[in-house]
Amino acid sequence: MSGAEEHWDVLIVGGGPVGACAAALLQRAAGSGRRALRIAVAEPARPARAAEGEPLDARVSAFSRAGERILASAGAWERIDAQRVQPYERMCVWPAHLPARSPDALLFDAAAVGEADLGAIAENRLVQCATLDAFEAAGGTILTAGFTGLSIRDEAVEVQLGERSLRCRLLVGADGARSRVRESIGIAVQAADYGQTAIVANVRTERPHERTAWQRFLGAGTLAFLPLADGTSSIVWSIEEAVARERLAMSQTQFEAALQEASGGVLGTLELCTERAGLALRRLRAERFAAARCALIGDAAHVVHPLAGQGVNLGLLDAAALVQCVLQALRAGEDPGALAPLRRYERWRKSELAPMALAIDGFNRFLAHGQGPLARAAQHGLLWVNRSEALKRLFIAQALGLSGELPAAARPGAPPLS
Ligand SMILES: Cc1cc2nc3c(=O)[nH]c(=O)nc-3n(C[C@H](O)[C@H](O)[C@H](O)COP(=O)(O)OP(=O)(O)OC[C@H]3O[C@@H](n4cnc5c(N)ncnc54)[C@H](O)[C@@H]3O)c2cc1C
Repeated sequence: MSGAEEHWDVLIVGGGPVGACAAALLQRAAGSGRRALRIAVAEPARPARAAEGEPLDARVSAFSRAGERILASAGAWERIDAQRVQPYERMCVWPAHLPARSPDALLFDAAAVGEADLGAIAENRLVQCATLDAFEAAGGTILTAGFTGLSIRDEAVEVQLGERSLRCRLLVGADGARSRVRESIGIAVQAADYGQTAIVANVRTERPHERTAWQRFLGAGTLAFLPLADGTSSIVWSIEEAVARERLAMSQTQFEAALQEASGGVLGTLELCTERAGLALRRLRAERFAAARCALIGDAAHVVHPLAGQGVNLGLLDAAALVQCVLQALRAGEDPGALAPLRRYERWRKSELAPMALAIDGFNRFLAHGQGPLARAAQHGLLWVNRSEALKRLFIAQALGLSGELPAAARPGAPPLS
């Protein structure tokens, strides 16, 4: 590969919520003025905006307070149609051996820590559109093309987007779990299939969702109901692959009956209002998040089980941390692709991720899927958490994404990055 004519300071491959957010944060902080950076995002599949009155999509995520603040710093949160976003005030978690709405169920209430809510549920597509729009509005460029290869030189990275060749000083891989950027740099991963599939769909429920996220640990999986803005709920039902295949092949009526049984009737009778989709679940962690002139963020760097609703939020924290490290380097007169700030980013995010990934795996192993004595002990341990206000506060801080070393963009009243 040689002779690229097109030059960028920073190229972000992947305009998913995480890549687009990193791009918008950087563009707003360093994309104008005398020494403005030239920043581009390569995204082959930009999603269409939701049409007026279009029903809610079944692919939604719970955004933590930290995630919301970072998206606000990127200029994206206010672009999301508030009518389609549902803040949630409570989270109720209960193991299979208890009835639904048992007084022993673990209830996290935002009001108990003086917060209005614990976060908000929004459609992935809507957040992605808003974030790409915020990047463009700040003067960024979106290249409708997919990454196909690279070659790293001392002074730049030469990148191939199909037929198109270009050079950049910093390349950010935000191209998701199957990252080609990660593969091309030669970064190894530790990965394993959970042997589970998450069935996602939206359901109409007999009882109101009460702005509450409900999650039942089933012993053979988890079933979550996330409250949606139109009164329906989004289900994420993570179960063994073979069982999921059976459930996906069932008729609508049979599926609704099986779902109702798994829910313990917490929201009354249930009726599907979208198609069902099955998503295979795996965990993944890249051995390095940074290399010469390259960094990985979001699912390209790490994938966690969806049961804690943290994947995209961890990715947004990566985006904000990376941008902060790059801006520090620029202030010190360094090149945006200098290795030292990228290593700083890597150390920071790896140390934050390790305990979170361990906790999520523990929840999956002992609370969601465990059947043995350890699992029973863990399920009973949940009840202790319920009796300790201090422990509950700790869990709420985790759910809000406000524990650990936060990037400036995730702190309260964060000023625009500069
Ligand atoms: C069932 C389920 C429920 C979940 N619920 C939650 C939740 O409630 N809360 C939460 O925080 N997280 C949740 N997650 C996790 C969350 O969906 C992911 O962590 C998040 O989508 C990762 O965002 P990303 O931008 O890193 O990657 P992606 O969303 O995968 O985006 C990657 C982007 O890169 C682009 N791309 C791919 N290849 C190329 C290429 N070669 N060149 C250029 N571009 C490319 C793609 O088109 C895409 O736009 C859930 C996940 C699952 C499976």
